[in-house]
Amino acid sequence: MPVEVYIALGSNLECPPLQITRAIRALAKLPSTRIVKQAPWYRSLAIGPGPQANYINTVVAITTTLTPLRLLKALQSIEQQQKRKHRVRWGPRTIDLDILLYGRKTLNREARNRNALIIPHPRLQQRNFVLYPLADIAPHLVLPDQTPLQQLLANCCPEGIVRLEAGETRGCTG
Ligand code: AMP
Repeated sequence: MPVEVYIALGSNLECPPLQITRAIRALAKLPSTRIVKQAPWYRSLAIGPGPQANYINTVVAITTTLTPLRLLKALQSIEQQQKRKHRVRWGPRTIDLDILLYGRKTLNREARNRNALIIPHPRLQQRNFVLYPLADIAPHLVLPDQTPLQQLLANCCPEGIVRLEAGETRGCTG
């Protein structure tokens, strides 16, 4: 049975709108996977080390029969295709793809390598640039621990993010 999965996308390097568009196209081509909803795009201030360009962030909903780990591997392969280099934690990146929610599943898979997988995503609750687009496409969502998404939104500030109009998403200014 296909599962509904929410994926966060973010980019602040090498023409972020292009990177986001490419990643969404790549997601649509994954086996047994369909994109069912796409949130508006947001511009957000970088929270990593040092001065960094603004990010473009969005969230998409997919349905897929890929297992969580296979999906993680597929996302990492899209990141690699888009030349993401893992150098600095929270440093600039061409594309970042995170699994936010996988149906109502919770997972805490610890691993030293890149197979670690925590679902719901551990920083989902603290990131306004994830909560806002997620709420745009799933306003009534309830997390596996029964927390309503609206409660998280009420506790989160909208500072540092701007929702982009459709026309604003095409250029290459981050
Ligand atoms: P990041 O640098 O934010 O892309 O983090 C990548 C690392 O987070 C990888 O080692 C993944 O195995 C791990 N990870 C843990 N949980 C998740 C998740 N829900 N979605 C994506 N990556 C995850």
